[in-house]
Amino acid sequence: MFDDLQKRLSSAFRQFRVSGVLTEANMKEGLREVRTALLEADVNYNVVQDFMTRVTDKAVGTQVVKSVRPEQQIVKIVHDELVDLMGPSDPTIRFEKTGTTVLMLCGLQGSGKTTTSGKLAKLLTSQNRKPMLVAADLQRPAAVEQLKVIGAQLGVPVYTQENSNPVKVCQDALIEANRRGCDTLILDTAGRLHVDDELMAELVQIEKKVKPHQVFFVCDAMTGQDAVASAEAFNAALELDGVIMTKLDGDARGGAALSVRRVTGVPVKFVGKGEKLDKLDPFDPERLVGQMLGMGDVVGLVEAAQSAVDEEEALRQQERMAKGKFDLNDFRQQIVQIKKMGSVQDVMGMFPGMSQMSENLSGLDADGEIKRIQGIIDSMTQRERSRPDLIDISRRRRIAAGAGVDPSDVSGLVKQFDAMAAFVKQMAQMTMLDKLKALTG
Ligand code: GDP
Repeated sequence: MFDDLQKRLSSAFRQFRVSGVLTEANMKEGLREVRTALLEADVNYNVVQDFMTRVTDKAVGTQVVKSVRPEQQIVKIVHDELVDLMGPSDPTIRFEKTGTTVLMLCGLQGSGKTTTSGKLAKLLTSQNRKPMLVAADLQRPAAVEQLKVIGAQLGVPVYTQENSNPVKVCQDALIEANRRGCDTLILDTAGRLHVDDELMAELVQIEKKVKPHQVFFVCDAMTGQDAVASAEAFNAALELDGVIMTKLDGDARGGAALSVRRVTGVPVKFVGKGEKLDKLDPFDPERLVGQMLGMGDVVGLVEAAQSAVDEEEALRQQERMAKGKFDLNDFRQQIVQIKKMGSVQDVMGMFPGMSQMSENLSGLDADGEIKRIQGIIDSMTQRERSRPDLIDISRRRRIAAGAGVDPSDVSGLVKQFDAMAAFVKQMAQMTMLDKLKALTG
């Protein structure tokens, strides 16, 4: 899997022989190789351009970490950005509280719809759900038979109709599923070798008449950018809820896996890694990137070194807090730390003065919120970060424009910061015993 990409990236990483700080100039050769590796893996051109800008910006600004060579830091940056490109992962299927949840699978012929329908049915059975498979692919002569065989293997009912049309098959299947107490219907729809109007019209009809709760696009990972172009077309017609990437066990080049999320905005939910029905895994970008780079040891090393630096930074911050000094730079630093610690909302709740923010985040996209806060602080000058009281209306407008938010968001953030700073100051003035009382009381 991803053999070519892995070889090319490894050779690209060997080009980074940098002493001292990373600059655009000394990374030029290596980065060019990374770019070529991605393009040759058939990653979408715009995605590659954007990716290279992000990697370059991050590398140029990166802090030199003791005990790690700059080229190792590059590996880590490329790793993180690749994960970011494909993620975040969300391998969940939402089920309706009552009645039958209808899942519709669509995609080109041969992408693996019928096989994936079986894999999903198997997965759901293992979760104590009662799926029913629906043979709505009346295009490919063998598809109905194939689904019947799969159903028999799994002991899952398969709904079929002779001389019918796909919409009627699905509608009647839903009635039958309700009658038999099946809680999930999996529609295996028809595909063509290429996207065409007739196929789309048929699928749109099914969507209109049967109203599937979620539509998944089955995407053949071996077909690179073509798969992404089809995903775009299907998404335009059907509003996809997720992508299931198949054939990642074969000689997938990486292009489809790396581009589809960014190009379509639709998350990858599952990956197929074999013809057998148990070869369906939740999509895990971190793992996939590990396989693409094959450099887990380097990534681990840089992470360890980085966390040592983070600890030093945390100590420095503690000292500043103890002296009652705490500005937006520290605040930003804390946010970055929190982001690294995992579930943002949980961690924030533990910080004094941040519990309100944590509550505000509940139900929201917490990571997105953190990025927004970081974006606002990044748009401030150093002076504004140390003296937030200087932020008047015109500065507020400038910062908001820079961060792409409303001016009121900037004042909201400063208010939250003020509350936290006041708390920190109060803590700094207390004796150790008082602090303990304040925190536990
Ligand atoms: P459909 O036309 O979209 O229904 O595609 P099929 O389900 O018939 O799959 C087409 C071919 O791809 C079959 O030979 C499957 O066994 C194979 N296939 C499906 N998923 C995978 C996978 O994850 N890995 C591999 N290696 N083959 C797969």
